[in-house]
Amino acid sequence: MMQGQLAMTCDLTNPAFTDEEKARQLLEATRWPDGPVCPFCGQMDTVKALGGNSMGPGWYYCSDCQDKFTVRVGTLYERSHIPLHKWLLATHLVVSSKKGMSALQLSRMLGITYKSAWFMCHRIREGMTPGKRGPLGGQGRTVESDETVIGGKMKNRAYAKKEPKKQTVLTLVDRDGDSHSFHIANVKAKTLREAIVRVVDRKSHIVTDEHPSYEPIGREFAGHTTVNHSDNEYVRFGGFAHVNTAEARFSLMKRAVVGTHHSVSEAHLSRYLGEWDFKWNTRKMKDGERAAAALKGIGGKRLTYRISHKAADA
Ligand SMILES: [Zn+2]
Repeated sequence: MMQGQLAMTCDLTNPAFTDEEKARQLLEATRWPDGPVCPFCGQMDTVKALGGNSMGPGWYYCSDCQDKFTVRVGTLYERSHIPLHKWLLATHLVVSSKKGMSALQLSRMLGITYKSAWFMCHRIREGMTPGKRGPLGGQGRTVESDETVIGGKMKNRAYAKKEPKKQTVLTLVDRDGDSHSFHIANVKAKTLREAIVRVVDRKSHIVTDEHPSYEPIGREFAGHTTVNHSDNEYVRFGGFAHVNTAEARFSLMKRAVVGTHHSVSEAHLSRYLGEWDFKWNTRKMKDGERAAAALKGIGGKRLTYRISHKAADA
């Protein structure tokens, strides 16, 4: 972790949230802990700072690429006109909010348009979504699987003309580790199996509900226990065979989707799932560490990020 006043703390008086120069220094320290890295070729020893001219601070030059860059280049912020200090404050607010942050709330807090806030929220979620994930579970470990249905409440529709579609989400949670969630468009044995075997180590013990689709899937793992949600079996199994970890993980997400965002379109669901996996996976971190982890995730995603909204140049 970074030291001193530039460290990203949960204190809203952090100067990096109001001072553009301090914000740049904080982002540089987070993205480049060992010094500036060229975003084009990945080298460090070919980079020098371009100081003392009309460029202003924060510009660097790579002699190999013969090109200049700032800390924004190659990140989700690259095309944005929003000052860095607002990005940092918004990131801090989104990652530390237990119930999620809506674009409307963010626009009020930052004094920016709803359109800009909406786009910032999605870029911040993209930063939280892990680029590469390892398998869940392993020998002697337990992975819980559970499905939940989110969305679809007419009374909560904010802008939608018709009732938002219900979406089924499968969440897999290593009881002592990370979670990985998917949108399952068509819930059946085949689609559930594909998601589970892709993510969960076969040496794991899996815990699922009694849905018949899980029976053949369970045989592919070291062990399989089913629980009946309606039957209070959580208690009967003395705490061993439970899906309570997944349940806790779900309740967080459901509260956010229902209470804060009201509905989530299918197109954006994966980013919300990324946000909630991230929040679960970093649950033991302090708010400042979690924000730094989210900031690290803004790099290297520019090329895969698809502009999906007309507020692209917010
Ligand atoms: Zn270079």
